[in-house]
Amino acid sequence: MSLTGTYDDANIFAKILRGELPCIKAFEDEVALAFMDIFPQGRGHTLVIPKGAQARNLLDFPAEMFGPYLERVQRVARAVTAALEPDGFQILQFNGAPAGQTVFHLHFHIIPRWDSVALAGHGHARRADDAELQDIARAIAAAM
Ligand code: 5GP
Repeated sequence: MSLTGTYDDANIFAKILRGELPCIKAFEDEVALAFMDIFPQGRGHTLVIPKGAQARNLLDFPAEMFGPYLERVQRVARAVTAALEPDGFQILQFNGAPAGQTVFHLHFHIIPRWDSVALAGHGHARRADDAELQDIARAIAAAM
């Protein structure tokens, strides 16, 4: 799977959006769903995915939908930083397998950063404990 191709509606995030797979939710409305990455590169690693478009990556996404979607990314980032009080945060977004993309439904990663705390590599993180992710998701949701 790479940069071009048809959208596969059996991808993991499409299944999460349809409720066919579980997720640990931090925020949801009609525009976007935010949930905890189960292989977090760092504490509080949150994914924000758009609804209503079959977009594999940034290139596929309808231009007029970016405003509402990125507003949700910003809102979730504000809640993540309010809840977890990191020293900084990263927004990551990968397009195409050679760039590191593994799930082919557009998404933004929000990754809090703390001084002197290294991240796990993208695609090399351990499966997190669900109870711990639930606690973080609750804190983010409360800060929304
Ligand atoms: P990408 O590599 O496409 O930029 O990001 C996909 C992200 O989805 C990765 O950070 C990976 O850890 C995460 N991920 C993979 N499978 C699942 C899953 O079943 N549930 C959740 N919540 N995250 C997943």
